[in-house]
Amino acid sequence: MIKLNQNSLLRYLPKVDDILGDESIKAKISGNSRTLVLESIREAIEDARKSILEGNAGELKQEGMRGKIIDYAVEIIEKKSEYNLRSVINGTGVVLHTNLGRALLSESAVERIMQVAANYSTLEYDLKSGKRGLRYSHIEDIICKITGAEAAFVVNNNAAAVLLALNTLSEGKEAIVSRGQLVEIGGSFRVPDVMRQSRAILREVGTTNKTHLRDYAENINENTGVLLKVHTSNYRILGFTEEVPIWELAEIGKKMNIPVLEDIGSGTLIDFSKHGMAGEPTVQEAVRYADVVTFSGDKMLGGPQAGVIVGKKKYLDEMKKNPFTRAFRVDKMTLAGLEATFRQYLDAEEALENIPTLKFLTASVDNLKTRAFKLAEMIKSRTSDFEIHVEEGESQVGGGSMPLEKLPTHVVSTRSTKLSSSRMESGLRKNNPPVIARINDDKVVLDVRTILDGQFDAVAEAFVKLQKGMDI
Ligand SMILES: *Cc1c(COP(=O)(O)O)cnc(C)c1O
Repeated sequence: MIKLNQNSLLRYLPKVDDILGDESIKAKISGNSRTLVLESIREAIEDARKSILEGNAGELKQEGMRGKIIDYAVEIIEKKSEYNLRSVINGTGVVLHTNLGRALLSESAVERIMQVAANYSTLEYDLKSGKRGLRYSHIEDIICKITGAEAAFVVNNNAAAVLLALNTLSEGKEAIVSRGQLVEIGGSFRVPDVMRQSRAILREVGTTNKTHLRDYAENINENTGVLLKVHTSNYRILGFTEEVPIWELAEIGKKMNIPVLEDIGSGTLIDFSKHGMAGEPTVQEAVRYADVVTFSGDKMLGGPQAGVIVGKKKYLDEMKKNPFTRAFRVDKMTLAGLEATFRQYLDAEEALENIPTLKFLTASVDNLKTRAFKLAEMIKSRTSDFEIHVEEGESQVGGGSMPLEKLPTHVVSTRSTKLSSSRMESGLRKNNPPVIARINDDKVVLDVRTILDGQFDAVAEAFVKLQKGMDI
């Protein structure tokens, strides 16, 4: 009896061509490759066949079968055509979220990257002479102008910059560094390990909490290659502490003719203490004293991933000749994005307005409050299953920058009458585009600091979908 039923249903399974020619599917799948579409339709039909044979056809009746298979095929196509590296909505309020890609680029940086990516360019071509040009020439002037450095160039990231600087300045020689600065930045970057890789000899001086100028001075010998200062960007030693300021280090470096290298990590070009945040060392300040300064392009600078190296020309010239420079070489898109980002700093106001990282970090509490109420209202007006409130909260800078800084913000705090907070959080993550939220005090929390205005609608729709999912 069942068998008969199955067989009769199987007879109504559509053919691939049948589905492919269906008008209702055509509009939904346009833009996808034929191979992907065929494969997905086959999978959908095969799935239906299996359900029938296993007696799990459920409501799969003759009439509705075709439509169901089409819906499922479209679902498979959408899944398969999704990129692995996807855009997400960052509701965490962590501005430089390393796992979510750190800095968002400004519009002009994006525009420049697209231009340079889609066209041939003067990457290593000198238009005047018609001969080979230098890859780094495009950004050196602007970086020097903004930072006040004598020379500048760029490698893939700050980790590479530090490795290259240490290898060039201190290979086989001692690099003197304070015990209070043997930093680990996210597991794979640990100052002692980077030193080993660079073949500089680690000469740690002082103690964890206190290092004095004499600790450096007493350890300088004929085999000293460099005096290294590392910004403890992701932690602070508080209390009974002392570290040697860069200008004092620079003084003995000068006296003993030993280069001073400072890894300042985040590369701030703006004095954030004017914006109510603890002052990070600025690049301009570091470069006044240190011989070589390295920093990241995609932290507080707000540009693409890069390691920027600025300082004295004679040391940078040596570094440019190091074979590591070729290995750490940046792509044309990085140069395009970095040039555009640096140019915006010619006008600090423009930089604060147009570089998303700076804009997010300096957003006023009033502005955040207004925006939080707007988002809360959008979700409220479209759903009924959530308790939604606007609350005061704190955002973090992230990216291992300003670890103690808590930026006052306003968050949309939500609770479902039907779902647990963790189910809600994972549901939002499964949305397209995924919404990344935090759970705080058993509530799902969205910090508007890192959510773009243009994303509010998608966030509200994610809650609509979450609510629909609940009713099933
Ligand atoms: C972040 C950081 C690094 C590593 O920079 P990347 O650009 O991520 O490679 C190195 N040193 C310090 C002090 C940092 O803060």
